[in-house]
Amino acid sequence: MTPTSFLLTNVTVVDGTGADPVPGQAVVVEGRRIAWVGPAGDAPSTAAESVVDGGGRTLLPGLINCHVHLTHDGTPDLMAQVASDTIPVATLRAARAARVTLQSGVTTVRDCGAADGVAVELAKEIDRGMVPGPRVQAAGRVITMTGGHGHFIGREADGADEVRKATRAEIKGGAAVIKVMATGGVLTPGVSPTQTALLPEELAVVAQEAHNSGRRVTTHAIGRAGIANALQAGIDSIEHGFYLDDELLELAVDQGTFLVPTILAVTGIVRNGQAAGIPAWVVDKAEREAAQQRRSFAAAVASGMRIAAGTDAGTPFNQHGDLALELALMVDSGLTPMQTLVAATRSAAENLGLAHEIGTVQVGKLADLVLVDGDPLADISATGSVALVVKDGVVHRDELTGTGAAVPKAA
Ligand SMILES: [Zn+2]
Repeated sequence: MTPTSFLLTNVTVVDGTGADPVPGQAVVVEGRRIAWVGPAGDAPSTAAESVVDGGGRTLLPGLINCHVHLTHDGTPDLMAQVASDTIPVATLRAARAARVTLQSGVTTVRDCGAADGVAVELAKEIDRGMVPGPRVQAAGRVITMTGGHGHFIGREADGADEVRKATRAEIKGGAAVIKVMATGGVLTPGVSPTQTALLPEELAVVAQEAHNSGRRVTTHAIGRAGIANALQAGIDSIEHGFYLDDELLELAVDQGTFLVPTILAVTGIVRNGQAAGIPAWVVDKAEREAAQQRRSFAAAVASGMRIAAGTDAGTPFNQHGDLALELALMVDSGLTPMQTLVAATRSAAENLGLAHEIGTVQVGKLADLVLVDGDPLADISATGSVALVVKDGVVHRDELTGTGAAVPKAA
């Protein structure tokens, strides 16, 4: 897994900043980082150990998925999987999800909740090279009220002291980001997506402890009152956010809060339904919220709220490696293809607090790159046609056989 150096030439660069695509470019990767970007004819070819012809394909920053659950796999009945799970099985499932994710061109994910510290430990082992996978920013266990949404992957806590201790315990356990539950949710029995969960003062304590430790904090929030509580508490990003309105959007835009829409999550449940084995109570809740999600996302787009891409992969019929499907849904819902690419690259990196290292094709950044067939600005689904994946300067997928010299391969 030792990165070396190579020159990737003859590519159109869409650099993730929102700048227009630039054809005829080359990129030099040295070690873990991008060393040079410019016109192919000017490339310092002697610096590179090997030359790869990109064949005119489109080079993007490695894609970022801000909301996944690596321990789950899109099973129709999530609660049944949770009930029968063991730590070894969940760990193996997470390792498989990580490999699939990286092969799809996603080089960084935020794991928004997993039982037993599995995602936290997997993140470390991926960094050490034990198993292939994207960079994982893991939330560890979610912080939720007693009986609240996601309690099966969480720490239940009530009152300021308990939530403070729960947040500190997750930080001690290695969580790189804190995930909290401000409302009920679709996949937990006995709670409604529109009800509030942790109280405003409890959310404020979670945000304070996360920020005090230098971490960002994100919340699951579907109903309006819970979103309002989260914005008031100073939480950095809203997952799902189905009931955003003008008043909430004004506050979110003022505060620079991100929305991670996860359109694919509800879509996967509604499209497949009870016939596919999803419990009736889950389908009912999803169907009730689907139209409102689309309205809310369109309002967020119009408001200029910062948007970062995320799928909620692991929920029913929402597979790892399917970020391209979410990006297509974002375009269908009113974001331009360029805005959508930025949401999956630079904005996502900003949402994770990692924009100094990843999210754009620029000199000095980590060499996280994905080369795709076709023009994703003309057809966003091109983000799913992956020819080359580089993470930290190491090639993890190479479909360019015959188009260039040997590329340094991952072990
Ligand atoms: Zn989730």
